[in-house]
Amino acid sequence: MGKATGFMEIKRKTVSERKPLERMKDWKEYAGSFSDASAKEQGARCMDCSIPFCHIGMEIEGATSGCPVYNLIPEWNDLVYKGRWKEALDRLLKTNNFPEFTGRVCPAPCEGSCTVAIHDPAVTIKNIEQKIIDKGFEKGWMEPRIPDRLTGKKIAVIGSGPAGLAAADQLNQAGHKVTIYERADRAGGLLTYGIPNMKLDKGVVERRIQLLRQEGIEFILNTEVGKDISAEEIKTSFDAVILCTGAQKHRDLPLEGREGKGVRFAMDYLTRSTEKLLDNQIHLEDELNAEGKDVIVIGGGDTGADCIATAIRQGAKSIVQLGKHPQLPMKRADTNQWPAYPQVFSLEYAHKEAKEKFGKDIREYSIQTKKFVTDEKGNLKELHTIQMEKKQDENGVFYFEEIPGTEKIWPAQLVLIAIGFEGAEEPVLHAFGVKTMRNRVLAAYGKFLTTEDNVFAAGDARRGQSLIVWAINEGREVAYQVDEYLMGSTSLPTVANM
Ligand code: FAD
Repeated sequence: MGKATGFMEIKRKTVSERKPLERMKDWKEYAGSFSDASAKEQGARCMDCSIPFCHIGMEIEGATSGCPVYNLIPEWNDLVYKGRWKEALDRLLKTNNFPEFTGRVCPAPCEGSCTVAIHDPAVTIKNIEQKIIDKGFEKGWMEPRIPDRLTGKKIAVIGSGPAGLAAADQLNQAGHKVTIYERADRAGGLLTYGIPNMKLDKGVVERRIQLLRQEGIEFILNTEVGKDISAEEIKTSFDAVILCTGAQKHRDLPLEGREGKGVRFAMDYLTRSTEKLLDNQIHLEDELNAEGKDVIVIGGGDTGADCIATAIRQGAKSIVQLGKHPQLPMKRADTNQWPAYPQVFSLEYAHKEAKEKFGKDIREYSIQTKKFVTDEKGNLKELHTIQMEKKQDENGVFYFEEIPGTEKIWPAQLVLIAIGFEGAEEPVLHAFGVKTMRNRVLAAYGKFLTTEDNVFAAGDARRGQSLIVWAINEGREVAYQVDEYLMGSTSLPTVANM
């Protein structure tokens, strides 16, 4: 619980960030980490709140509230406050396989439901989490844990994102031989080719992959299951299969002029940009280089923000981010009360950078895109839009209405479509013959078994595009189910059946 009166005496502090105008000159992480003293001081703010809502891990009003891996937050806050770092690390690793990822990039629903946040700014849980695990690596406490007994069972995990990695980690520790198949040239899923370096350094991802390899997990890269190796071969070679293939099927914007050169999906842009950074030999298509261009990002979410930060580093001439929804309020609305995730205005790292570089917040709200216009060579030159008004009908249902006379033409040579994802990509799911519903693999949460024997599914492929922390939750939970399915009983942890 930290110090009993800490929340009354100590103000919330977060980690320092490098200055936007400096950090935009490189691709290194923009956020720093706590000193021992700062982490201890902030840990002291964790109050004796009796029912710690920080780890409730549930959906409220359609958003995640509390920690989905049920991190034992008050316990490790108290241990950090007392300087008992190794014990804090042990408590953290009980529930979270990869705190070095969540400690850096989780949107921290735990802080939204922290009891201190009813009246005061929340405890800085996320920054403390990062400090504990970074210290664990620094001190050499994160040594390979080689399983001391083997079961003889073989498991194939398809996809090496956080869901696949968490499932593999748990099952490897249970003594099974785990092989991960990944179509990309590097493991990590969206941790590697999605979230940019400025948020999550790829060395941090690679360090974990190396540890998992040392612990006995086999990675087979550059191999698309269903194409380079058949589903049948996988099914006959393994005792169980887990589909962790993510939900990266693009959502498109089929407007007039969509085929123009310079209208691209955000994910292609982010992936190619990271590939180029990791391997200088790769040629980045001119179309995907923002240097000297007027860039428009369509979509107000995090993927869009990552595109902004990337385009700034590539030297974009101007950047605008267009969102369909109105600006969020500065404070929680009456309909968005604690412990629900606070739906409030914020300046993300990318928006802070854009504000410094271009002298204003580059976001435009309540905008509907109408058409793309190209020149005679098919190169994008303009995006046409109109302003919208959010209204409510007599049944309380919200809808958008165009405001006549608010049409606008934006110059643009690169437009990035970042309006979310349709769901899981189908070819691999068809190859295994599993049923889907609304573009997701049909498999109940808590069981994770698909409509095919021995074939399980977890992560975004099952729940739709979500968060790393949910992917870790599902990876852990599917491992519990697979172990029990293969062995008749399991000693792996679970919280899904609580
Ligand atoms: P993924 O990470 O998508 O991994 C799936 C893997 O399966 C991929 O590597 C893919 O190549 C592989 N694969 C697919 N088909 C095959 C096949 N047939 N054979 C072999 N391999 C295959 N969440 C956060 O919590 N914080 C953030 O800051 C954040 N930022 C994000 C930024 C972007 C740009 C995006 C797109 C998402 C972000 N998310 C963030 C969401 C988060 O990354 C995902 O929810 C999470 O990675 C899902 O994990 P997963 O393991 O289910 O799937």
